[in-house]
Amino acid sequence: MSSSKRKFLIIGAGLSGVSVAIQLIRKGADVTLMDNGVNFSSYVAAGMINPLVFRRMTKSWRVDEFIPYLKKFYRGLETETNSSFFHEIPIRRMFSTEQERGFWLKKQEREDFEPYMNKMTEADYTFSGGKNPFGSGRVKETFYVEVLPFFEKVKKWISDRGKIVNSAFNSDDLSGTMYNGVEYDDIIFCQGYLNPTNEWFGSLPLDQTKGETLTIKSEQLPEDCSLNRKCFILPKGNHTFKIGSTYGWNDPTTHVTEDAKTEILNNLSYIIDETVEVIDHAAGIRPTTRDRRPLLGTHSEFRNYHIFNGLGAKGYMLAPLISSEFAEYLLEGNGLDKEVNITRYNSTIHSPKSK
Ligand SMILES: Cc1cc2nc3c(=O)[nH]c(=O)nc-3n(C[C@H](O)[C@H](O)[C@H](O)COP(=O)(O)OP(=O)(O)OC[C@H]3O[C@@H](n4cnc5c(N)ncnc54)[C@H](O)[C@@H]3O)c2cc1C
Repeated sequence: MSSSKRKFLIIGAGLSGVSVAIQLIRKGADVTLMDNGVNFSSYVAAGMINPLVFRRMTKSWRVDEFIPYLKKFYRGLETETNSSFFHEIPIRRMFSTEQERGFWLKKQEREDFEPYMNKMTEADYTFSGGKNPFGSGRVKETFYVEVLPFFEKVKKWISDRGKIVNSAFNSDDLSGTMYNGVEYDDIIFCQGYLNPTNEWFGSLPLDQTKGETLTIKSEQLPEDCSLNRKCFILPKGNHTFKIGSTYGWNDPTTHVTEDAKTEILNNLSYIIDETVEVIDHAAGIRPTTRDRRPLLGTHSEFRNYHIFNGLGAKGYMLAPLISSEFAEYLLEGNGLDKEVNITRYNSTIHSPKSK
């Protein structure tokens, strides 16, 4: 069968599922995307893209490849959908210590950090938009995706070229590659933190990392940049800001908690003293792996069952290029990066029930 006619059923229309669907459709495949309409990660996310890891002032994994690709990916979709959901936003890291400023000053001299770091100037020491005792550094190549408009537009893009089914996937209805009487060539599972419920890939080591955010109203915070220290602050217009997020390891529920609200507001106090009004509080669950790499590949026995998951806390940066590589793997037989391939965990995939 020619690759252009291959028929895929994708389960899950979060960021993973829609990215894979877009890439497969672009390569001429026949795509059906199924989702149960309950999303607690991609829709809750701030959608921020930051090339640096502040903790150690290092570059994020494969960032030199991810950033140019994602700019083309999101801007291309904006053009095709005649909309605007991908925005540049300067991120300013408010240093916590002199040592942290020292790390920045050292790294800013390096050629490989030049694309991502502005050299500090006097204005970075005197910046008064937040508490700035040790000065602050301005990151380059920083963006955010407005998540709800993004999903509205890309789902329309997909349904114009493929099929979207609003329904819950039930493994009892799958027999080989036949689902509810329709024959597919391949099934791709993109279920995010719900992967442990998956019959074939559920034993892969995927952690459910809860995250909570607040939306606040502030009269003091600047609206032209995102401040970062102990938490991120993303301006949303009209003096409203999304702030967060927490990392909860032992609570895979999707309800909001007072503890997280207190933690976020306490973190905010490292940036401003203002008593802010909280206008929204949301919770979601990131699908994370211990080695911080995505989980992609094909089942060892069921060779037409595949998984695309494990985007962790940086899905909006990783998804565009990783999904393109995944589509090349599926349709053109290109090898998968062994850092993301589930074969690194092969011994943990147990035999599922026979289909
Ligand atoms: C609070 C918070 C803040 C975040 N902020 C950022 C950020 O600023 N930048 C960033 O890059 N990333 C951020 N992330 C991470 C990002 O959200 C994830 O990396 C990404 O959204 C994961 O996407 P996914 O499609 O794999 O999972 P999901 O978004 O969870 O999507 C999975 C989909 O599969 C569906 N599904 C599951 N099982 C079934 C079934 N049986 N039948 C039908 N449908 C099913 C679900 O309903 C869901 O819609 C944040 C996450 C959280 C929680």
